[in-house]
Amino acid sequence: MKITDHIKNANGKTLFSFEILPPLKGQNIQSIFDSIDPLMEFDPAFIDVTYHREEYEYIERQDGLLEKRVVRKRPGTVGICAAIQNKYKVDAVPHILCGGFTREDTENFLIDLDFLGIQNVVALRGDAVKTEIYFKPEKNGHHFAKDLVKQIREMNSGKYLDESIENCYPTEFCIGVAGYPEKHMEAASFSQDIHHLKRKIEAGADYIVTQMFFDNHKFFEFVEKCREEGISVPIIPGIKPLVTKSQLSMIPHRFKVDIPNELVIAVAKAKDNKAVKEIGIEWCINQSKELLNYGVPVLHFYSMGKSDNILKIGREIF
Ligand code: FAD
Repeated sequence: MKITDHIKNANGKTLFSFEILPPLKGQNIQSIFDSIDPLMEFDPAFIDVTYHREEYEYIERQDGLLEKRVVRKRPGTVGICAAIQNKYKVDAVPHILCGGFTREDTENFLIDLDFLGIQNVVALRGDAVKTEIYFKPEKNGHHFAKDLVKQIREMNSGKYLDESIENCYPTEFCIGVAGYPEKHMEAASFSQDIHHLKRKIEAGADYIVTQMFFDNHKFFEFVEKCREEGISVPIIPGIKPLVTKSQLSMIPHRFKVDIPNELVIAVAKAKDNKAVKEIGIEWCINQSKELLNYGVPVLHFYSMGKSDNILKIGREIF
């Protein structure tokens, strides 16, 4: 079922969902099932599966020259989505990127998803690869997520890339896009970022799922600004419980989101990561309760493949 239909059918009740990562190459899918099993008690409306494109590494050869090598550490997004739908009968939502995909790759990827009965996707640009500063699309690929949304929307109206193929059937993908309550790191301003978000919706996106945030007021302001700008699609908050002290520096650095001072002090004072986990759970429960009162359509958790903390939070909330 489409995410937008899940939301409509819930009649104002807040749904539960979460995001997982494919395991590192060489690992078994059982680790994914082990992380999903406990969370089934909250009847997830859907499960997102991230996409990880190939990265480039430079390795030093024996002759001293550098050799560029392609590595793909977490393949398997499509396979995991199919396995989730088959085993749990829950909608799996693969993320799909501009980065690393030509338009033809995108079309073929979507054909596979459609044949597997996957009806939802989150359309994203992706980040610059680690060996480059700026995002570079593939030749004949998309530069921004809005262009990817447009291609998916065209397939939904039966328009495929090769216009000489007649009578292409229309796919029916429901399309999610990313939103940033604290602005995307490359955007010149918050207003510019919202303007670009609106263009993703105008291109045909059906809902927004946000980057993690730790201060609900940032989310409330973001929703307000979106509504002022005429964005009326559902906005799903993405939240994440902290689990380690190192995240105090890693999360702001990598995702460009703030961690409130009160939370920083509590985590910094914690005697070990076991204590940090408890603090993260407590903070996330309070965040979730406030978001529920605000009437969010879905509470979407970034599980990072660990479910014990989400389980504790869910038992307080759902
Ligand atoms: P876009 O919407 O294309 O925006 C990128 C930047 O360009 C923004 O600063 C925007 O303001 C600006 N912009 C947009 N249009 C224009 C324009 N016409 N002119 C000038 N500037 C413009 N990454 C992965 O690799 N795999 C994942 O599975 C994944 N999942 C994610 C899930 C969520 C919920 C979120 C929030 C992020 C996820 N990411 C993932 C990270 C994402 O790929 C990065 O944040 C990426 O840098 C931006 O992607 P986007 O789709 O928001 O890009």
